[in-house]
Amino acid sequence: MITSSVLGRFRPSPIAGIFSTVERLRREGRDLLDFSIGEPDFDTPSHIREAGMSAIERGQTRYTPIDGSIDLKRAIRRKFLVENGLDYPIDHIVAGMGAKPLLASAVQAVLSPGDEAIVSTPCWPSHVGMIELAGGHAVKVVTSIDSGFKMTASQLDGAINPRTRLVILCSPSNPTGAVYSETELRELAEVLLRHPQVAILSDDLYEHILFDGTPFHTIAAIEPRLFNRTMTVNGLSKAYAMTGWRIGFAGGPLAWVNGVRQIYSQCSGGLCSISQATAIAALEGPKDFLADRASRYQSRRDLTLQALGAANGLRIMKPRGAFYLMPECSGLIGTRRSNGEMITSSGDFARYLLEDWSVVVVPGEGFECGPYFRISIATSEANLTLGMRLIAEASRVLADTTGQ
Ligand code: PMP
Repeated sequence: MITSSVLGRFRPSPIAGIFSTVERLRREGRDLLDFSIGEPDFDTPSHIREAGMSAIERGQTRYTPIDGSIDLKRAIRRKFLVENGLDYPIDHIVAGMGAKPLLASAVQAVLSPGDEAIVSTPCWPSHVGMIELAGGHAVKVVTSIDSGFKMTASQLDGAINPRTRLVILCSPSNPTGAVYSETELRELAEVLLRHPQVAILSDDLYEHILFDGTPFHTIAAIEPRLFNRTMTVNGLSKAYAMTGWRIGFAGGPLAWVNGVRQIYSQCSGGLCSISQATAIAALEGPKDFLADRASRYQSRRDLTLQALGAANGLRIMKPRGAFYLMPECSGLIGTRRSNGEMITSSGDFARYLLEDWSVVVVPGEGFECGPYFRISIATSEANLTLGMRLIAEASRVLADTTGQ
């Protein structure tokens, strides 16, 4: 079988091994506490589900326009205007089957082979995969727990060169939960204003999951002079607990949005007609559940921080949004498991948690970074209480065994 050279652009996932062990242990009947899941454990609110049922009953079951029905695009336009202060004309808006394919099409629509695109790490691995799929080169700006997992203006400036065509921003961030403040975004914007060849892709998927009263800001609204070279991408998967309905949307400059339409329409059909009805109900319906759910995530974050706060060898940043924590485990590198194996990476640590403690986390290697691991708090308080106790105990045992 001769396959395309495009496939050669992909590296095997560094965390595939962990997940095949998870599969094997599950098949063997092991009960695992899973903190690797990147989707809400809440249900889609009932008024949204009902809109789907009524769309079925009304017979809304046919093809729809490739980039979303006019009613959906009107609802998206209102959302951008009212919630974000972004005034996109209707033809500057596209909807698609989740944010992911729109992000991928947006990357393809600006990158030519060999172009560079900047992402800060730890990052959602698909951001890098999308750049590679487009034939681009991902330039990774490394952030750490000490910089609050945020890229500084001078880091961004240092990463830009004449081949740079794109920067991807993601705030609140998957996987770190870092949230850029208005001032920080202004500083990044100042740099970008000096480099007009760079387009900006703002991945705002976790907009409504914010803690401690932290406000949400998106760069196209913060700096109107960047409005014409920013694509703002959002969707309903996370805040509205609608991962399976597959609704994402974007607004941006016409040439870029038209490029997205062209690419997206060749590899995908229009949205599911029933999902579109639910999306309109979500965007136009009551919103009070958003704050309620964010406050549930916040209590879980606090519970997790408290349980892991004193754990040996771990350092943790208090996330201000999204539903993840990203502890640093460099203090446990060099320790040994009871079977004598040395922990040399976050991958080894995650394997130890899995094999010896039945706890699933995603190691930093999965997010283009070093000695960190991601805990998803999109699970019950009971799971978190037990799981965090086990992680703290597992860290203590490692540190004790090795005398650290
Ligand atoms: N962006 C980020 C940062 C994400 O974490 C995800 C989902 N994991 C997506 C985009 C894709 O979301 P969707 O379900 O809308 O495709």
